[in-house]
Amino acid sequence: MKLSELGEFGLIDRIAGQVTPMPGVRIGIGDDAAAVDCTPGFSSLVTSDMLTEGIHFDLGLCDPETLGRKSLAVNLSDIAAMGGRPRYFLLSLALPRDLPVDFLDGFIRGLLSMAGEFDVTLIGGDTCASAGGLVISVTVMGEQLPERVITRSGAQPGDLIFVTGTLGDSALGLRHLRNGERTGPAIRKHLDPPPRVREGLALAEAGIPTAMIDVSDGLLADLGHILERSGVGAVIDLNRVPLSGCFLGHRSDLEGDPYLLPLAGGEDYELLFTAPPLQENAAGELLARLGVGLTVIGEITASGGLKVVAADGSDYQPAFSGYNHFSSVN
Ligand code: ADP
Ligand code: MG
Repeated sequence: MKLSELGEFGLIDRIAGQVTPMPGVRIGIGDDAAAVDCTPGFSSLVTSDMLTEGIHFDLGLCDPETLGRKSLAVNLSDIAAMGGRPRYFLLSLALPRDLPVDFLDGFIRGLLSMAGEFDVTLIGGDTCASAGGLVISVTVMGEQLPERVITRSGAQPGDLIFVTGTLGDSALGLRHLRNGERTGPAIRKHLDPPPRVREGLALAEAGIPTAMIDVSDGLLADLGHILERSGVGAVIDLNRVPLSGCFLGHRSDLEGDPYLLPLAGGEDYELLFTAPPLQENAAGELLARLGVGLTVIGEITASGGLKVVAADGSDYQPAFSGYNHFSSVN
């Protein structure tokens, strides 16, 4: 079946029919606006991310389910980076008229499977036709006590710099996909990144991070945002940047700088945060309980920008620092 046969309202009904009712949603899909409850005393955290065909995804390289999962995951990651608990989300779609309904069914299935894993509920959105490619916009609402919300601006000189999981896998996976490969852990990380929601929430509830961000544009670019907003500098030890077994296994096929992908690759959706050295053990134990690795990669300094030290102690000069949508060198 084609979308044109189903129609806008048929499609909205089809989506609404798959949503499980959840506590807190007083009015969901079907009215002019949704009405939801927030926990008394908590601040709402609201974030939006758009994914466009040809820029963020290529329909030839992903299946609809994982595209649905990733569309929500990248937004959940932003709530995680604030230390929040995600609760509700909106889905806006601009759809090419010839998109098969099967594709949309798979997309919604994937999206709602990710929603189920993190207890978030679809409460509305918007649907329109696209004269170009597919455009997906997701808005997530989360919440946290105002004093527990973690921003980018609280890093202090002397804080350690921590990163969850490993870096560079997603960018490696994208290279593999572009080379015609279809399976493997790096490809999985690129197509279906797990948002670190439980980790961000647990860290915030324990009062550990002074500043936090999710690594979406690449380590150097995202750490740069923390440094700029906090008015501090940093020294990163290249040797300590966490790499997966898969990444190390493929490192020799990477032409040029082997650190390019871990430092600037982007889309890893790991959490990058700063915390006083006294919190190192607590942070490690907390993440270990959640089954996710944690690595100290450097330290915050009073000034001096971002310095990366290579294994031999020399200054490392990366070729470029991260993804920028309007740059001509991507
Ligand atoms: P309006 O014309 O008032 O904007 P719509 O016809 O766009 O209303 O939407 C009707 C209902 O369907 C609203 O509750 C809206 O939030 C919901 N909705 C529309 N598109 C989507 C979508 N893609 N996913 C989930 N809910 C949607
Ligand atoms: Mg509308």
